[in-house]
Amino acid sequence: MRIHPYPALVVLALAPAMLGAAPLRTVADLQAEAAPFKSEIRDIPFETTPEQIVASANAAMAAGDKAINELARQDPSKATFESTFVALDTIGADSGLVESRISFIQETHPSKAMRDAADEQGKRMQQWEIGNGYREDVYAVLKAVADRKPAVTGEDKRLLEFTMRDYRREGFELPPAERKEVEALFKELSPLQTDFETNVISARSPLVFTKAELAGVPEAFLAQPGIKTGDDQYTILVNVTPQRIMVEQRCSVAETRKKVVLAEYHLAQEKNVPLLNKIVALRNTIALKLGYASWDDYRIETKMAKNGATATKFIEDLVKGIQPKFDAEVAEMRALKVKETGDPNAQIDYTDWRYYQNQLVLQKYTIDTEALRVYFPYEKVLNGMFAIYQSIFGLKFEQLEAPHAWADGVQLWAVTDAKSGEPMGLFYLDMFPREGKYNHFAQASIQPGRLLPSGVYLRPTVGLMCNFPRPANGAPSLLAQEEVRTLFHEFGHAMHSLTTRANRAYFSGTSVPRDFVEAPSQMLENWTFDKAVLDTFAADYRDPTKKIPAATLDRLKEVRIATIGVFYRRQFGVGLLDLRLHGPRAPGAPVDCQAEANKAFSDCSFPVPADTAMVAYIGHLAGGYDAGYYGYAWADSIAADMATVFENSPGGFLDKDAGMRLRNEIYAQGNAREIDTSIEAFLGRPRSLAPFLKRLGIEQPKAP
Ligand SMILES: [Zn+2]
Repeated sequence: MRIHPYPALVVLALAPAMLGAAPLRTVADLQAEAAPFKSEIRDIPFETTPEQIVASANAAMAAGDKAINELARQDPSKATFESTFVALDTIGADSGLVESRISFIQETHPSKAMRDAADEQGKRMQQWEIGNGYREDVYAVLKAVADRKPAVTGEDKRLLEFTMRDYRREGFELPPAERKEVEALFKELSPLQTDFETNVISARSPLVFTKAELAGVPEAFLAQPGIKTGDDQYTILVNVTPQRIMVEQRCSVAETRKKVVLAEYHLAQEKNVPLLNKIVALRNTIALKLGYASWDDYRIETKMAKNGATATKFIEDLVKGIQPKFDAEVAEMRALKVKETGDPNAQIDYTDWRYYQNQLVLQKYTIDTEALRVYFPYEKVLNGMFAIYQSIFGLKFEQLEAPHAWADGVQLWAVTDAKSGEPMGLFYLDMFPREGKYNHFAQASIQPGRLLPSGVYLRPTVGLMCNFPRPANGAPSLLAQEEVRTLFHEFGHAMHSLTTRANRAYFSGTSVPRDFVEAPSQMLENWTFDKAVLDTFAADYRDPTKKIPAATLDRLKEVRIATIGVFYRRQFGVGLLDLRLHGPRAPGAPVDCQAEANKAFSDCSFPVPADTAMVAYIGHLAGGYDAGYYGYAWADSIAADMATVFENSPGGFLDKDAGMRLRNEIYAQGNAREIDTSIEAFLGRPRSLAPFLKRLGIEQPKAP
């Protein structure tokens, strides 16, 4: 038993398995069990001083340089697929291991000196990696091997193709002069993108109101320091999202809401509109030079959607598809506005949809989400979820003695295959907030799974970073339903990582296209609305015979879709403006991102005035997510489609056959084969948009 070092309050939150049970087994025990399966469980050698972090980064880069130089120095005529493509994957995975460990330290370590050192070394390693990508000598050897068309199949054939594709995407197939030009253009683009993001982050727009002007906004919110800035003077920072949304949703004074929304739509306008015009033009030039018809074709080539036209059609079809739901919601919102203003011709517009959306939910559904917390004590929820995932995915979880706990309460767990006893990997749990810790909820891959050159499979390790309320005043930590949902979602990513069978790091675990990666976890969120699922663990902690009433869950589900048409039409608006900006345009043609984006957005959601520039404040456009915003809805639609497999199974969301199919056909595969192939194998049929439209409350979907 090793519970003594933990403060008494945290002990309350520990899994009951620990309390009064046998001593925990160790990583070494798991290592011994892994050996007969030709797999390896590796203890993560977490650094404990800033000096160690620097030393690890130096060692990783020195080893990487040595290995890359050896790769590049080979006689191209003798080089093999293993000595080039596999070697490159191994080099990336070895240094990536150090990089992801350092990044995890940066997000979780209680010591600021450690986090700062990790931040600095992480950035250094990233720069080093970018430099490696531009090495001509490495490319020359790879190309010599690729040109000989080595007899590789399956995942390895894919590794060869994807590696060469990545080089082509950097301009390596162009004649030297043009290639230099593309490299120069990428280097010109990079700081502009950073500037765009910086301008979004640093945009400020404080607005001062009187109390009367903020009628309807909760008292507790207004009383906060920073907001109450004087006698009858309240300052709303429009650039702080929760403050802006609070006023937009709750303030009953139309003029105030309008001021806030207009300020929002002018944030960063002056700097970012001219900047984005330049960025979009530059991206277009790069795409054309690389032989693509448009930047969205370039960006989406590596995603499920494959090209801009497919992504655009997807969004446009959905805009039409949810028209009836959108119209019905707007009609309900308009009726509320007519009643409130006494104006029979009142219309809902871009300044007040959030307010009437909130009113609609409040008036139609009286549901006290805070009151639901009593059903979700942290420990019960965690164990309940563990029991379900173990059962449907055929796994066994076991808490181990944690050799490296960077903070109180951090736990280490092992995952084994229930049938064979094969160790699948390890996960760390870091579940409560702390000063300086990453402040959202996320699953981080610390060590991706992959086949080592020795033929042994290195099993993965992941970390779950959460910020649940700490237990207090003798009561256990009680979660909101939304937090339960988040836990099921994030732990789904852990399942995806841990059950991987992909051989190459490039394809392993959650290394799937970004427009798919969220889909399985989005699907698992449904579990937390299902009575059969919740009844296995959710009960009033004061009286465990009391389960969540079915009527409450029905209302939760109704609220979930009550204004989903308005929600999605706004999301489609951003998705469409992103795609249209990055769609085909003539070389050198001038870009008017403000007009183009306003038009695209207004085609989907509530029309915005011509002089506003919401586009200037969309951080996604800075880079990384450019031509990628559609991916949220894309993944949602696949999640709804995938959920039908469980819904139509005898066991529902607890169905073991469906769970094993998810594990084997989706999780285990990673990106080692086409995602569409994996999804079809899981669904047993081609994909369909119909379940998504049905989930949105559209009765007779017209499948595209
Ligand atoms: Zn996620």
